[in-house]
Order: sequence, then C-alpha cells, then structure tokens
Amino acid sequence: MYPAEFDYVRATSAQEAVDLLAQHDDAVLLAGGHSLVPMLKLRLAHPATLIDIGRIGEIRGICEKEGALRIGALTTHDEIDRSSLVREKCAFLAEAAGKIGDPQVRNKGTIGGNIAHADPASDLPAVLVAAGATVHLLGPNGPRSVAAADFFTGLLTTAKAPGEIITEVEVPVLDAGSAYLKVEHPASGYAVCGAAAVVKMENGACTAASLCFNGVTAVVLDACPDGCSLVGTTADDAAIGAAVDAVKIADPMGDIHASGEYRVVLAHAYGKRALKAARDRA
Ligand SMILES: Cc1cc2nc3c(=O)[nH]c(=O)nc-3n(C[C@H](O)[C@H](O)[C@H](O)COP(=O)(O)OP(=O)(O)OC[C@H]3O[C@@H](n4cnc5c(N)ncnc54)[C@H](O)[C@@H]3O)c2cc1C
Repeated sequence: MYPAEFDYVRATSAQEAVDLLAQHDDAVLLAGGHSLVPMLKLRLAHPATLIDIGRIGEIRGICEKEGALRIGALTTHDEIDRSSLVREKCAFLAEAAGKIGDPQVRNKGTIGGNIAHADPASDLPAVLVAAGATVHLLGPNGPRSVAAADFFTGLLTTAKAPGEIITEVEVPVLDAGSAYLKVEHPASGYAVCGAAAVVKMENGACTAASLCFNGVTAVVLDACPDGCSLVGTTADDAAIGAAVDAVKIADPMGDIHASGEYRVVLAHAYGKRALKAARDRA
C-alpha cells in the first residue's frame, strides 16, 4: 500500500516543531515512523503535512538530574534498553524497552512516539505509570507537564493537545525492585498482556508497591491506584497472590489474538509473577 500524498517539512528544534504545527492545518509529527508509517500506508491516517522531528538533537538522550532520569522524547527503545543508567536506576524500563518488537523496531522507534501513539498493547505506558513518571510537553502556550497516570486517557488517546510536542519523559530513580513481564504476540511482539511491577522492601516489610497492566484494557490499567494491599506485609507469595486475586478488571479487550476472559487470566498470572520478581530484586 502507498500512503496518500502529503507535504514534508523538517523541524530543527522543538520550538520550530511547535511553530510548524501552528502553521500547518492537519499536520502530524514524524519521529521513528514505526507506528505512523504503517498507518499512512493503510490509509488509516492521511495528514496533509508530515513534520519530521527525527533529527532534533535537543530532545534525544538520557541523563540523571535531581533524582530522576530525564529521557528525551526521541531516545530510541534500543538506547533505553542498552543504557547502563536506566538499567541501574529504573531496571524495568530497560527491561520493557528491550522486549519491544524486534531490533529494527527498537532501533527506530522512540519513547515519545510510543507514548504519543498510546497503543494499548505498547509496553512503555504501563511501566511509566507504575514508575510514577512525568511527561513534559511544549506547545503554543509554552511548556507543561502531565503525570503519566493522567497522560493516557483512552484507546490511542492521550492528554497531549494537537499543537503540542512531547519533549522529555522524567522517570524517578527507583529505590525499589522492579520487573516487566509480558505475553507477546508471536509475530509483532506487541503485548497480549504486560505486567509492570515495583516493590520496595524495608526491614523485611513492603513499604511501597505498584502494579500496572498493558494489553488488557483500552488504556493502561493501574491495578492499585489507591495503594497496593501488599504494603505492610512481608510480600510473601501468599500476600502477593491475595493482592493480585483482589484486582477487578472491567472491560478487558478481546480480539482475534485473545479473548477478554483470557487476558484477565493472564493479567492475574503475570501480575503475580511480576510482583514476585520485583520483590526478589528489591
Ligand atoms: C512490527 C512492529 C512491532 C512493534 N512491536 C511493538 C512492541 O512489541 N511493543 C511496543 O511498545 N511497540 C511496538 N511497536 C511500535 C513501536 O514501539 C513504535 O516505534 C512506537 O509505538 C512509535 O514510535 P515512533 O518513534 O516510531 O513514532 P512515529 O511512528 O513516528 O509516531 C507515532 C505517533 O506519535 C506521534 N509522535 C511521535 N513523536 C512525538 C513527539 N515527540 N511528540 C508528540 N507526538 C509525537 C506522531 O505524530 C504519531 O502520531 C511495533 C511496531 C512495529 C512496526
């Protein structure tokens, strides 16, 4: 399939991308192209203009600042997977990035594109919500920040306004164990069910925990938005089993790959495994 015709412009800075978005009606940003180009070819998207942000250096790269990792929106999945900083300070983010698609996808796909596209089967959204990350945006009214927990609002839908660009993702340095496990579709690698878990242990007791799923519902599912019942326990296998069994999952997605009922079964099984792995790494 060939895409419909479009105009092409290239931005050299994040501000220029915002200015170009304001100047062009019906324009979309092009980063790694690994979600957008398939949509263009299938004619599920037919924008009048593509604004290529792929070469903007100022929003690419990883550093640590004031207790958080700052990951530029154009940082690729492969760069996150291979980053010793990410592996050391937020292990399950590197683990999830390393499980995305295949090497070609990881070499071109970016964290900004991944979360802007907000595919329910994408790996990074659940990890970012479980980690308590923040998404930084730049728009016509300047910069603003949105908690990852508030960023993903629905199927392929986010809190990003049309004229905005994601510039950076800020991920707190974890002082806890973390794990990301998934059942992947054998052809694409997309998650049929992904489980992202964080467990903090102090003096033999769990003092903080989070568990999020992707691939199960239309938007990232935070299994314990008001605090995990593991807190205050020793986080032994029985406590983890009880905490995950209590998670109610409404409106699971069903499709040709897996029924909604099967996804709920997977979520309970992989939620337990992810929490146990995070506890063992804490
Ligand atoms: C075969 C295949 C397998 C895949 N498997 C997986 C998988 O297992 N797990 C997974 O998570 N993903 C998977 N993906 C998707 C992959 O991670 C994509 O790279 C990613 O979802 C989009 O990132 P991108 O940089 O390619 O964005 P693009 O395709 O360039 O853009 C996607 C969307 O995001 C917008 N956008 C991009 N960057 C920004 C920005 N900085 N600010 C605002 N909007 C922006 C674009 O306008 C567009 O609407 C797969 C893709 C393919 C083709």
